[in-house]
Amino acid sequence: MEARKSLKGLENQMERAVLEMVNEISLMETQQRYCICEKFCNDAAALALNNLQPRYTTSLQGSLYTLEAIQADQELQTLIRLQVVKAMETVAADPRCSEPECPLKLRQLETVELELAPNKD
Ligand SMILES: [Zn+2]
Repeated sequence: MEARKSLKGLENQMERAVLEMVNEISLMETQQRYCICEKFCNDAAALALNNLQPRYTTSLQGSLYTLEAIQADQELQTLIRLQVVKAMETVAADPRCSEPECPLKLRQLETVELELAPNKD
């Protein structure tokens, strides 16, 4: 028996909600503790998603409606934020980023340079 290749049209809207939260938290982070590369974000999102209930949809209309519902639910947003922060802390403690594609080190270098040579206008 051949296994089904993929579940076309089936989408977990929690994935989008979690990825948006990962982006939001990365942008607000001021101490450069989190990376913004794909590997870091995927690892953090996967960890968080394993602790959150999936919200599967099978149509475009359903996906839009469900994503809106997730974002309008304050209690759920708080839960997502909690899980995402926890996941990002976990990944940041032991990052699996591969260096060439990871901008974290580069970003840290830039910050140090800015601090050493502030703009004097
Ligand atoms: Zn990285």
